Amino acid sequence: MTTNVPGPKKAVPLQQGLFHIPASPGDTGYLIGSKCSNCGYVAFPRRVVCASCVKDDTMKELRLSGKARLDRFTVAHQAPAGMTAPYIQAYVQLEEGPMLYTLVTGVEQKAEALQLDQPMEAVIEKIREDEQGNDLIAWKFRPVKR
Ligand SMILES: [Zn+2]
Repeated sequence: MTTNVPGPKKAVPLQQGLFHIPASPGDTGYLIGSKCSNCGYVAFPRRVVCASCVKDDTMKELRLSGKARLDRFTVAHQAPAGMTAPYIQAYVQLEEGPMLYTLVTGVEQKAEALQLDQPMEAVIEKIREDEQGNDLIAWKFRPVKR
């Protein structure tokens, strides 16, 4: 018989290398992409070879601003394990160019809470708990307060 002793709760990134998790209260999280020094193409997640000019060795790590516009969204009424319905899933276009999938936070989870093309900003926070009770961390976007 094995005994499963729960360890201290940890903050676990959904995937390594995609973003910086705030390490202290004054620290802010951000997305990590890459930018081509030859043509200026920006990728998220970061790439080794530029998808635009296909040059090797020109993609340099770039701290993304987290500023974006809401491209499209939908309200999900069925949630996977560990999440609560309803919740909003969306695609946002970063000001640097890349389009990415995200959950939306900071608003009531209903369609009336958002408007297409509105300014959004990234936050790095808990998405849900994993099977061990650790906090799974990833990005979400919220409307920029006016
Ligand atoms: Zn390039």
